[in-house]
Amino acid sequence: MALNCTTLSQIDDSQPPPYSNLAQTIPADVVHKPAHTTTVVVQQIHPPTYGPKPQYVMCSSCKSMTMTKVKDKVSIRTHKMAIILALLSCCSCLLIPYCLSSCQNQQHDCENCGAYLGTFKN
Ligand SMILES: [Zn+2]
Repeated sequence: MALNCTTLSQIDDSQPPPYSNLAQTIPADVVHKPAHTTTVVVQQIHPPTYGPKPQYVMCSSCKSMTMTKVKDKVSIRTHKMAIILALLSCCSCLLIPYCLSSCQNQQHDCENCGAYLGTFKN
């Protein structure tokens, strides 16, 4: 009978300890925590949308808040409208799209430094 008890104790040593004993044997300072956490905030900056009139915006070049200076710029659409008008009216209305700002794009420049800021496309 005594022989059976020793063999049972040898078998118990080869078995892994129950989970409740494992949790008690791990000291609290062994648990790894990051030394410091870094929070990264990603902020999307949308460029301003420009309209046909001067706008109050922050210039990305001189970093000042200014009104934009608007210039009319001829575009492909202006040429297409001139061709269509020339075909319909036998060249008498050819120059009308080049005189109307509503038939052209508006380019916005900074009043302070003159940097290009954006374009409003008609
Ligand atoms: Zn500027």
